[in-house]
Amino acid sequence: MNNETKKIPYKIYLEEHEMPTQYYNVRADMKKKPAPLLNPGTLQPMTFDELRGVFCDELVKQELDDTTAYFDIPQEIQEFYKMYRPAPLVRAYCLEERLQTPAKIYYKFEGNNTSGSHKLNSAIAQAYYAKEQGLKGVTTETGAGQWGTALSMACAYLGLDCDVYMVKVSYEQKPFRREVMRTYGAKVTPSPSESTAVGRKILADHPGTTGSLGCAISEAVEAATSREGYRYVLGSVLSQVLLHQSIIGLETKTAMDKYGITPDIIIGCAGGGSNLGGLISPFMGEKLRGEKDYRFIAVEPASCPSLTRGKYAYDFCDTGMVCPLSKMYTLGSGFIPSANHAGGLRYHGMSSVLSELYDQGLIEARSVEQTEVFKAAEDFARIEGILPAPESSHAIKAAMDEALKCKETGEEKTILFGLTGTGYFDLKAYEQFNNGQMSDHIPTDEELQISFDGLPRV
Ligand SMILES: *Cc1c(COP(=O)(O)O)cnc(C)c1O
Repeated sequence: MNNETKKIPYKIYLEEHEMPTQYYNVRADMKKKPAPLLNPGTLQPMTFDELRGVFCDELVKQELDDTTAYFDIPQEIQEFYKMYRPAPLVRAYCLEERLQTPAKIYYKFEGNNTSGSHKLNSAIAQAYYAKEQGLKGVTTETGAGQWGTALSMACAYLGLDCDVYMVKVSYEQKPFRREVMRTYGAKVTPSPSESTAVGRKILADHPGTTGSLGCAISEAVEAATSREGYRYVLGSVLSQVLLHQSIIGLETKTAMDKYGITPDIIIGCAGGGSNLGGLISPFMGEKLRGEKDYRFIAVEPASCPSLTRGKYAYDFCDTGMVCPLSKMYTLGSGFIPSANHAGGLRYHGMSSVLSELYDQGLIEARSVEQTEVFKAAEDFARIEGILPAPESSHAIKAAMDEALKCKETGEEKTILFGLTGTGYFDLKAYEQFNNGQMSDHIPTDEELQISFDGLPRV
């Protein structure tokens, strides 16, 4: 029996020995590379020595390396992955049936771990390299709490301190993730806080602010760089994080190759870009090398539309302007999504790798409004049985739309999307939706212009 005629199961699980042993760095196959991080003082590319005060050495190497295609995954990380990987590649037969579409729909499910998302893939790698360097601990920011949860799990496993600055509104409104983090041993501080200089400044300038990811990043960076034995780690956006998340795409590709499946369209939600970047990496590599062609679609919230309405410019990664400048599609580091925004994906910028690929026309982007996203989430939960994270549901929405287009045209396209996590900790947002109280907010051009005006002149 050849591959073409193999019956595709509902779930394709790789064997443990089929799991990737190397990460793939898509930058190696990009002819035009992403723009380098710049030192905000000198406007020169950040050097290894400048970055190593913030990040641990191995991660700085990975961040700056845009030519090495493969990085070995250390044995200890491979073993940790086996606690929750390989992740299943699911054929969404039930969804196809319900939509009455000739399209074949697949999703890679990354929600099979306590943190409930793909973020653990990079958390364990970053914690491992910090430990290898003999550090005491790491600091980070978290919004809704997925990243902080993932990092606290990884740090608990390796015996590292984990110091999390959590966006204040989430700290207050999402006590469950906060307590998961504390259970794993993390110290969780609501941001902005009085415990850092930048936090005190933000509080003085914006009394009563409920915080943002950008503020929390500034505080976490300060907490790392002002103490011996600590480094800062970031859950998305950076090229090193995309590198670690390539495990998603590599596993998916191995599973698809085993069954002779070739996706036509690959879809992912885009917050900072790491899950989408990781999912598409090996496929994009083929496209960049001229071996195959795929359509890639990034899906973002209409209330935080960095790719579809942002500017491709150098910007700060954080509100406190302590981080290096990154060239990316951005809404401006001062942009804070409207208060009624529930659906995650609220970062103002996008990974420099994805930004460059998008700028070259290799990726498409679209934005969707949160009520339609939650409608798609509800449909998906009822049909496929998984309660999806609001973030992931952006991809579900786009995948369903593409499948319905196939229904009209009769095309039997193969659609792959990333189901990045589960929504058990997002039930406040589901409650709003179920009560018919969810609304949409699309920023006006004038609102966006205000934050564009704050872009640094480079
Ligand atoms: C953080 C998160 C995202 C956003 O991921 P990026 O890699 O930053 O785009 C998507 N889905 C879930 C479930 C998340 O926790």
